[in-house]
Amino acid sequence: MELFKVYPLADLRIERANGSYLWDENGVQYLDMYGGHAVISIGHTHPHYLERIQNQLSKIGFWSNSVHIPIQEELAEKLGKISGKEDYQLFLVNSGAEANENALKLASFHTGRKRIVAFSHAFHGRTSLAVATTDNPKIIAPVNETDEVTFLPFNDVKALEDYFTKYGKETSSVIIEAIQGVGGIRIATDRFLQKIRTLCDSYGAVFIADEVQCGYGRSGMFYATDYAGINADIYTMAKGMGNGFPIGAISIAPQFKPSFGMLGTTFGGNPLACAAALAVLEVIENEGLIEKAKSRGTYLLNRLKAIDGIENVRGKGLMIGFDVPDEIKNLKKHLFDEFQVFTGEAKPNVIRLLPSLAISRKQVDEFIDALQESIVELKEVTEIN
Ligand code: PMP
Repeated sequence: MELFKVYPLADLRIERANGSYLWDENGVQYLDMYGGHAVISIGHTHPHYLERIQNQLSKIGFWSNSVHIPIQEELAEKLGKISGKEDYQLFLVNSGAEANENALKLASFHTGRKRIVAFSHAFHGRTSLAVATTDNPKIIAPVNETDEVTFLPFNDVKALEDYFTKYGKETSSVIIEAIQGVGGIRIATDRFLQKIRTLCDSYGAVFIADEVQCGYGRSGMFYATDYAGINADIYTMAKGMGNGFPIGAISIAPQFKPSFGMLGTTFGGNPLACAAALAVLEVIENEGLIEKAKSRGTYLLNRLKAIDGIENVRGKGLMIGFDVPDEIKNLKKHLFDEFQVFTGEAKPNVIRLLPSLAISRKQVDEFIDALQESIVELKEVTEIN
């Protein structure tokens, strides 16, 4: 049987990884500036992570959510502390889409309303409601289209106010990425996030912060919405939470009351995934990775801003993007082919950097050197042609 290939594949047959490096089948080394799409938070194959998972597997990997699972309680306590939301409740799932799906559903149960606000260029996942709130017609099947979702322009306070004046009382939730990832590293202004908070409070709507990509320390704060000094009612997370082990979660404000049947999952919160997630939080704490994401991110951002030939360098922490002018449009491929550096991308011409939060300064310098040389080489080719 052949694989059902849904992504354009880079020419890399991957075999193993360590820290911020990947190796292919022939032993060629690549610098990982993509972090498996913001998933690799503490670095590949971290020894504490391996030990925690192996140890858990030798005790119990899975049984069922119909009994108490102490390691879930341990994870909830640690996550509450590190995120600064100790009074929130935790519901564990398996992916980002599932987290958003459950958050949107819970908001609707809570308010008894149907309308949802999402924003231009948003990406929230590929399950039913998650995809319905995603601004990309290519990935929304007709069955997922719904009039209940309104897309407003990102960072447009006036459009938000006008919408709420008209439909606020029918609105169940607003879902937003404080830093849009797939949308191309677009940063919500503090004022915009604060306005969403005020309007949700006035009209009884639920504020859902999708922190699947920008959260979990990546932005240099635990949640990217923390920069605006506000609390969301529900935070959704996944990617960096498991450093590659599939796990996601929703962190739910105390006013929400769970009732039997509302949410459920077979695999969500299994002991093995919890062990992975706990190991990640322990490493984040022990190695000061949130502070590191902030300082190393600032260093990377400043070095990028000093480079001639790329445009609109932006980002927070280790979630950074820049525009690639037409003249050097093959930059991503060139970095990969000639310098063995793997970067991310977003349409139309954005390079996205989402490295491990533990990336070293030396590795950042290695990336900058490769980038500078690539730009020179690509410009030379353009001039010759
Ligand atoms: N939300 C955001 C902001 C994302 O970037 C993604 C994945 N790119 C998702 C949700 C969906 O996560 P998953 O692929 O784990 O379902």
